[in-house]
Amino acid sequence: MNTETHKAYGASSNTAALEPMHIERRATGAEDVKIDILYCGICHSDIHQVRNDWKNSKYPVVPGHEIIGRVVATGANVTKFKEGDLVGVGCMVDSCQDCPSCHNHLEQFCENGTIYTYNSPDKHLGGYTYGGYSTGVTVQQDFVLKVPENIDAKGAAPLLCAGITTWSPLSHWKVKKGDKVGIIGLGGLGHMGVKFANALGAHVVMITTSPAKAEDAKTLGAHEVLISKDAEAMKAHANSFDFILNTVPVGHDVNPYLSLLKIDATMVMVGAVEPLEAVNGAGLIRGRKRIAGSLIGGIKETQEMLDFCGEHNITADVEMVNMQDVNNAFERVIKADVKYRFVIDMESLKN
Ligand code: NAP
Ligand code: ZN
Repeated sequence: MNTETHKAYGASSNTAALEPMHIERRATGAEDVKIDILYCGICHSDIHQVRNDWKNSKYPVVPGHEIIGRVVATGANVTKFKEGDLVGVGCMVDSCQDCPSCHNHLEQFCENGTIYTYNSPDKHLGGYTYGGYSTGVTVQQDFVLKVPENIDAKGAAPLLCAGITTWSPLSHWKVKKGDKVGIIGLGGLGHMGVKFANALGAHVVMITTSPAKAEDAKTLGAHEVLISKDAEAMKAHANSFDFILNTVPVGHDVNPYLSLLKIDATMVMVGAVEPLEAVNGAGLIRGRKRIAGSLIGGIKETQEMLDFCGEHNITADVEMVNMQDVNNAFERVIKADVKYRFVIDMESLKN
């Protein structure tokens, strides 16, 4: 099969820094959209996978699943896109499209194995898929999203993961006007959660470990800020939340957060994949409370989220970085020192 060589940044082991490399992409097939990558967000998941935190990384890992680009070519059967369109690619590039999950617009739960944008088996070239820290990507048309032209393209990149990962649970659990909603962790995901919950008319409480972020949280759309280390403040909010979205990126003690939920209310976990500290059964039983999980969102839902962002002019707050500065950016994400998402300007890789 013909291939095209692209410049990329990737890691060759879980202890290696990201470094320049060349990768092969497949030639544009009949169903494919070839995309020139303009911007790619840096998600905390990129760091988890580069460092093999989830124990399933295949090296080299070329991360990146918050991709914004322009269509430069389309295959013969492509009907939804044309050259020049502004498009996005998120965490998935393929699925079987034939199982109950896929029929139900839940490609992220494909029963035959979702193909993620990177670190998944590549059925076209063998080996594993490579992500958006690269100059271009070729993707099956059903996994390409239309990006509204009226929103800032740089700030749109994080919508493809941080956006949909927070939008999907807010939408699935039917957060509505007047609900008291808590967002835990003011990072890339959390800041989108605040913006979306605010746009849906909820009373938004930013629950953070960082008092220094309080003013920003309000600017982003939080009506109140709750410092989770302040036991008295936590007590004052006990049993009062309709819904909580937890974006903490590591295993932690969820019991203090559970105590914030009202009767029948749910806390949705999207961050920690490792074991949580023991959950106190009484904390769930008294109040019929629920802990749930959520994984990104389906393609249809991702398009709905992007359209909503177009209508409400919602994008992420981003700090632009050059590809060559990615290792430093990773360190700063780990220190929670970014407002609130790094986005790589891929022009820096093309030169
Ligand atoms: P991020 O930008 O690093 O933000 C995480 C925030 O959590 C931090 O800014 C910090 O906020 C808070 N935090 C960090 N360590 C903490 C700790 N030990 N205890 C309490 N709070 C802590 O990360 P992100 O990109 O938003 O991603 C968050 C997590 O979601 C990552 O694990 C990522 O892999 C995962 N993720 C999941 C999905 C999914 O589909 N489920 C999709 C994308 C990402 P404060 O300073 O405000 O406390
Ligand atoms: Zn992500």
